[in-house]
Amino acid sequence: MPVGCFSWSKTRDEIFNACPRQYYFQYYAMTDKNMDQLRIKRLKGLTNLHLLAGEVVHDICGSIVTKKNILDPIDLIAKSKHVLLEAIKKSIFKSHEWLVNPKAFSMLHEVYYDSDFRSSTDITKRAYLFSKLSPAYNDIVDRMSTCITNLFASPTVKDLMTSNFEILEVEQLGTMQFDGVPVYIKPDLLYRQSNGNFVIVDWKTGKRNAGDEIQFKLYALYAHCRYNIPLEDIRVRADYLLTNESIVSSVIEEEVSYLNSWISHSITNMKDFLRDKDQNIPLPAEFFQTNPGYNKCQLCKFKEICPEQKKRPA
Ligand code: SF4
Repeated sequence: MPVGCFSWSKTRDEIFNACPRQYYFQYYAMTDKNMDQLRIKRLKGLTNLHLLAGEVVHDICGSIVTKKNILDPIDLIAKSKHVLLEAIKKSIFKSHEWLVNPKAFSMLHEVYYDSDFRSSTDITKRAYLFSKLSPAYNDIVDRMSTCITNLFASPTVKDLMTSNFEILEVEQLGTMQFDGVPVYIKPDLLYRQSNGNFVIVDWKTGKRNAGDEIQFKLYALYAHCRYNIPLEDIRVRADYLLTNESIVSSVIEEEVSYLNSWISHSITNMKDFLRDKDQNIPLPAEFFQTNPGYNKCQLCKFKEICPEQKKRPA
């Protein structure tokens, strides 16, 4: 059965390269008649404390730039803590609602895959699970507080508070076409400075990693293709809020053909796993090999349906 048209994103490429079976679960399992569709819907929607904290910080960033809403960081940290705490409480104590309707709210991976959650509906055990999550919660709150504090000292916020600018996009899912394939890109912020330059901002709540640089170049390529902005007028600024660092990068003409061939190669690799490339119909699940790794599988949303887990000693 087709799953809409084939599209490409960097996230999709990352999942495909990390584990093709995880990629199958994420992008194709919902049309697999051999799979329990309610279960797939639940697993696809799982989130975790790190992702949630990242979303909360991004919401704050977005609200500051769109409304120039400079609240006291202490208030913002308190509100953010409340959001995380509510998410934990809902996951633990309202799971009966979520099991029937996974769209009701996002279940936390940390809760769903905890043995105490899975083995009992006993309220005492659930309360114990709540206390078990305290160290993880405290750790995330510390990181989130650091990010929020550093946000106010970041070059982006300073620039926006002290000069004129025009916002083109805030957390907007954008597309550009690549050989007939929609390519999805979602910059955190794209704005024009009063000197005519364009800045794309990527707010990072984690540490630097190897894939960041190519992501920045894709952002620049997107702004160039979508708005016809000359490459030399585009800067990508990554504000690493956890470490209070900022990196500015750009793309030069000579790098565009490399980026194009990189995307093209990635699309070809993914399409090799399609039985019908026009209709976006995948080969059967068994063709998408598993690629296990301890940390990767621990964090994987789909581990309970992955054949690799059955091979593990009980
Ligand atoms: S549990 Fe591991 S091997 Fe299985 S899909 Fe997830 S990442 Fe891949």
